[in-house]
Amino acid sequence: MNTTFTPLASKTVAFPVVERVETLLVDLPTIRPHKLSVATMNGQTLMLVKIYCSDGIVGIGEGTTIGGLAYGGESPESMKLAVDTYFKSIMLGQDATAVRALMMRIGKMVKENRFAKCAVETALLDAHGKRLGLAVSELLGGRLRSRLPVAWTLASGDTAKDIAEAETMLDLRRHKVFKLKIGAKPLQDDIAHVAAIKRALGDRGAVRVDVNMAWSETDAAYGMAALADAGCELVEQPVASTAALARLMRRFPIALMADESLHGPESAFELAKISGADVFAVKIEQSGGLFNAQRVAAIADAAGIGLYGGTMLEGAFGTIASAHLFSTFNQLQWGTELFGPLLLTEEILTTPLDYSDFELTVPHAPGLGIELDDDRVAFFTRDGVRKTISVIG
Ligand SMILES: [Mg+2]
Repeated sequence: MNTTFTPLASKTVAFPVVERVETLLVDLPTIRPHKLSVATMNGQTLMLVKIYCSDGIVGIGEGTTIGGLAYGGESPESMKLAVDTYFKSIMLGQDATAVRALMMRIGKMVKENRFAKCAVETALLDAHGKRLGLAVSELLGGRLRSRLPVAWTLASGDTAKDIAEAETMLDLRRHKVFKLKIGAKPLQDDIAHVAAIKRALGDRGAVRVDVNMAWSETDAAYGMAALADAGCELVEQPVASTAALARLMRRFPIALMADESLHGPESAFELAKISGADVFAVKIEQSGGLFNAQRVAAIADAAGIGLYGGTMLEGAFGTIASAHLFSTFNQLQWGTELFGPLLLTEEILTTPLDYSDFELTVPHAPGLGIELDDDRVAFFTRDGVRKTISVIG
């Protein structure tokens, strides 16, 4: 028998490839100033990445940060630069269907830039889901729930305004779990603020706080005891140090959640090893993408640590990418805070997301299951239509 060996490389492989990568910065106003210990946000900038594939499919991903560079090493502008200058050349001509292989290829040549990687991975998954007719949650192993509880952050900086805002949210049946941003004011003022809000809401609303690392360990020891007395159920990242987090664990009848300490699976493992948290706030951007965030969740599960679906105050694309992932978690004991799009005054989707009855619906349509309104985005794109109009006017 005459057998002829055909090298693989000589075969015509007809997989769709990445043809074009486009990035844009979209500046959107927020409904009110959003005050955190690290920054006051009056608007949010989305870095959108569009990946055009040779089979005509386009995937969209998003990167955001909280307060520009106030939260970490990446900003929307730096993500755009990283994707345009470095990621793009690594991706062009590559198999668009081999999402993990392509992300590994990027990982070999780009060491850090977790947020930018997340935006690109989201776009590749969106495209691949559309190609296969599957929702991103199905690409990640399949969803266990299609509705996610969503907490709201009260961060106007004013106690009476925050109470009024919480009452409105309860009336609208949009949120019944409230996270208070504290740490910028003196400790006693913050405790009084939390206690007043919890007193006003009673059993109708749960109250949690996020200190964004603003406290010393001594502040935290005092603060956590006082917060527990005030009826607060959880404190998020009171201190920066993971060793201090571990020392604060189990000393107070209040759950301790890690957020800023989590930078992907390795940090999650280290934190789990020292019993540094009761709960992990899993974020797709902080983790370096959806697959890595899934690994963070697996570590939490294995260590008996509770899960909470966190946000970087993403717009619709980052929020829904997160929602697809969180829908696959074995457990989601503390719900999510996927309210980012609700903080923005402008809709960028052709069909708005479904927030109702205290929950967000995870779309079923292929890919992320949402559609960008290109005309509206063109208006809010930096140096785009709005800028042109204001220059003319
Ligand atoms: Mg936080």
